Amino acid sequence: MRLPDWLAHRAATAGERLAIIAGDVRWTFQELDRRAASLARRMVGLGVRPGDRVALLLPNGPEFVELAHGVGRAGGILVPLNTRLAPPELAWQLGHAAPRAFVYAPQTEPAARAALARWAQEGQTGGEAASSEVAVLSTEELASAPEAADASLRPFVELEAVHSILYTSGTTGRPKGALLTYGNYWWSAVGSALNLGLCAGDRWLANLPLFHVGGLSILVRGVIYGMTAVVHPRFDPQAANRAIDEEGVTLLSVVATTLARMLDARGERPYPPSLRAVLVGGGPVPVALLERAARLGMPVVQTYGLTEAASQVTTLPPGQALRKLGSAGRPLLPTEVRIERDGRPAGPGEVGEILVRGPTVSPGYFREAPVAAAGRDGAGQDAASLSARRDGGWLRTGDLGYLDEEGYLYVVDRRDDLIVSGGENVYPAEVEAALLAHPAIQEAGVVGIPHPEWGQVPVAAVRLRAGWGLTAEELLAHCAGRLARYKVPKEVRIVQAPLPRNAAGKLLRSRLREQWLEAGA
Ligand code: AMP
Ligand code: MG
Ligand code: MG
Repeated sequence: MRLPDWLAHRAATAGERLAIIAGDVRWTFQELDRRAASLARRMVGLGVRPGDRVALLLPNGPEFVELAHGVGRAGGILVPLNTRLAPPELAWQLGHAAPRAFVYAPQTEPAARAALARWAQEGQTGGEAASSEVAVLSTEELASAPEAADASLRPFVELEAVHSILYTSGTTGRPKGALLTYGNYWWSAVGSALNLGLCAGDRWLANLPLFHVGGLSILVRGVIYGMTAVVHPRFDPQAANRAIDEEGVTLLSVVATTLARMLDARGERPYPPSLRAVLVGGGPVPVALLERAARLGMPVVQTYGLTEAASQVTTLPPGQALRKLGSAGRPLLPTEVRIERDGRPAGPGEVGEILVRGPTVSPGYFREAPVAAAGRDGAGQDAASLSARRDGGWLRTGDLGYLDEEGYLYVVDRRDDLIVSGGENVYPAEVEAALLAHPAIQEAGVVGIPHPEWGQVPVAAVRLRAGWGLTAEELLAHCAGRLARYKVPKEVRIVQAPLPRNAAGKLLRSRLREQWLEAGA
């Protein structure tokens, strides 16, 4: 199915409205449309043909926005790379994506150069050998690249076509390149609007990385809705609060750690009523944090989502935020959610694996071996089925959760992070939330380590807020008052360094476990 080009439509219907605010840059939809078309012609000039990948290693900013909308006009597939990755990790993804063009910024040039050298040296690290065919250029060089005069840009958006390949942040194992189609983004944007509503004058703050689905989907939604996206170069709690107070931001997406930092920077000043909704997700969200936000009048709504489903799967309806505090909400309209336990549908309140089905779910991972039957219509390799994780159209998320009697989802934890101690299930997120309820604790991470008697036991690493002195014993006493005995960490270590997190701010429990075991008993 095809739709008129979203951005061209907005340029025609809301041309004077602001599409992008990024620092001093203010672009109307008309201007953004013009820039996207120009960029697409430059891409064609660089040799980009339909289906070719264009990799970016860029911080948040207007150049990223231009590429996000322009690459697809030339028929290219956007591959935004994570700017926090190390050169060998980037080299692997470049080899895997085998892009036709690779764009870097002044800030990312050293990492880009190192990654390219590594790719050339290692040859077929992830997929293809480094080739001289790839056009490597800085944002400056791209700006002055010639436009192909004869470029024929696509006038339509084909919903089945792949818009981007997003390497999942990989809290476990090797990264996988989730293919997201225009249709995946379209249905995600529609589902989100049917839940949150659309208001004239909405502005959505994008201060999460644009190379993650949470950030990128804001740009796509902005164009579909005709809404302004306010892009910050990085997360800065003061700047985020200021954008709400002074720049008319009505919507924003945060993860628990960034939300906590915004509240820390806020003091007692309530948030203005113009702030319509703050979506918090991407990882476990302690209820105490939601309560703290709600006390300042911040309309927090928890959301559960993942890259493979183009961001939101469930989100609380704003009107239910307080009544259902702690829940990640109900499935967005186009999406179905099912909980499976021991291969059977779980009843209300029963914890099992979260399964997701619907038009926001990715058709597959790039270059994954297709299952035998999936090669129809030449969709072949690029649209390989999510074979291992999908059956009957249901995506197996690897997350544990339950639905209550009213069908609201409660996310419990990652299945792989579950700690089984003496036959009892311990969910690290629950123990972390109990620790974080203590005012002295800035960060907490809980993992399971082997134990001769119980199989596994939970242990915790915590970082204290500046100016607090607290002993591990006091922390254990705090936990003992809130948690069943088997959930109380067997040991608490107070650490100075920030806990290991990925670029999205997600706690890397597998790395934390390694660090714990390396440091010894
Ligand atoms: P990603 O793999 O980077 O796409 O992030 C998706 C993952 O983040 C999910 O599979 C969950 O493990 C986690 N996640 C997202 N939202 C929530 C939430 N509200 N509560 C707990 N975990 C979440
Ligand atoms: Mg994932
Ligand atoms: Mg992940």
